Amino acid sequence: MAIERVWIEDGCTGCGLCEDICPEVFRLEDTAYINEGVNYGDYEEKIKEAAASCPREVIKYSEWNPLFPPVKK
Ligand code: SF4
Repeated sequence: MAIERVWIEDGCTGCGLCEDICPEVFRLEDTAYINEGVNYGDYEEKIKEAAASCPREVIKYSEWNPLFPPVKK
């Protein structure tokens, strides 16, 4: 499955760990932000590592499952 969306929920403390792990996707200002226009599929392992390493567990992502593609309306 490929990561299709990454977001950060409330509670980031700005520790910078996610940016250290994957600066292509995560950007630290006062808190962490997600860089737009990135092909998240290219950084799946690092995104997952950042999410698993985040001390606040606020990094979330959703994966595209080819068996259950999103319904287009
Ligand atoms: S690792 Fe988590 S708490 Fe630290 S800057 Fe990134 S999102 Fe915020």
